[in-house]
Amino acid sequence: MYPKLLIDLKKLRENIDAVAKITKDDGGCTMMIVTKCLCANREVAKMITDHPRVDFLADSRIENIKKYQDLVEVSGKQSVLLRLPMMSEIEDVVKYADISFNSELATIEALDQEAAKQGKTHKVVLMVDLGDLREGIFFRNKEEILETAAKIHAMKNVELYGMGTNLTCYGAIIPKYDNLSVLCDIAGKVEEKLGIQLQMISGGNSSSIYLVGEGQLPEKINNLRLGESFLLGNDTAYGADLPGTVGDGLLCEAQIVELKTKPSLPIGEVGVDAFGQKPYYEDRGEIKRAILAIGQQDTDRGGMIPLDEKVDVLGASSDHLILDVTKSDREYKVGDTVQFTLEYGAVLRLATSEYVTKEFI
Ligand SMILES: *Cc1c(COP(=O)(O)O)cnc(C)c1O
Repeated sequence: MYPKLLIDLKKLRENIDAVAKITKDDGGCTMMIVTKCLCANREVAKMITDHPRVDFLADSRIENIKKYQDLVEVSGKQSVLLRLPMMSEIEDVVKYADISFNSELATIEALDQEAAKQGKTHKVVLMVDLGDLREGIFFRNKEEILETAAKIHAMKNVELYGMGTNLTCYGAIIPKYDNLSVLCDIAGKVEEKLGIQLQMISGGNSSSIYLVGEGQLPEKINNLRLGESFLLGNDTAYGADLPGTVGDGLLCEAQIVELKTKPSLPIGEVGVDAFGQKPYYEDRGEIKRAILAIGQQDTDRGGMIPLDEKVDVLGASSDHLILDVTKSDREYKVGDTVQFTLEYGAVLRLATSEYVTKEFI
């Protein structure tokens, strides 16, 4: 059944080899592979836990970590919850994640109590916000960071495992030597004050990996967390292809349900489209239009790049994607399928939609 998300496990495995070379061999970091974009798909999680170079599996959702915790356990790797824990999921966080990222003392206290109940030690990475304005204690509030670290250190059933930061998500701020050095300085102060050595200084996601190649990753950063860069093969700071990776390990394939020649401009008074937006239409004259049975419920139209370079995506409604195939060398017919390489937002929705068949190639 179409539409399909085609997952090439061999290509994804080779992409992990390539990012490991940069992150571990050149960057001297441990490597966390992030599983959320493919909803912690079991086969993919198996490939990742089997991969000898992966140190941690990370996800933003505890239900995803729960799904593969058995695989992580036998692999000897550790599982990491990236999104700050909800108060309502504390029990599962302690049960299924070895490490969680945190910024709220109340939550960490709840983790400590729950860990005591379960007879476990739970590891905490304290997040610092370097200006992207998502999670973390704001970097200028140094006293709050030091005090929070001291309080965590004093708890019996949580361990202050490290410190971390996240960039290029909300504020689109690019990691640099300068802002990551602020994290390293603060971590150094925490170590000095508490007389400990932090195990992990986590320097960001796929937008930080480019710093390794430029020799700009501060020395104290010893971990990177990689999702998009192993899935799609690009650094997400500037969008460059990463050496040794491929961008077609994931493809979408959808089927044509209508193929007709029609004008490119709609006829009549223009209101708003299916999503309340006032659309813009380019006048291309009469064109050959293909309608595919896939829509915004299954994917993000802006992240669908046709493999046939002479095909353009014109638009999408909830269940339909409309293409201009006028210039293609291929004689498309109803029932033919069209393949696309993907951007992150499209992969996320394709993986999440229950209407999309996941096929391994
Ligand atoms: C999603 C996420 C990542 C992975 O991001 P990519 O850009 O896909 O590498 C890393 N860290 C945190 C905290 C995240 O939420």
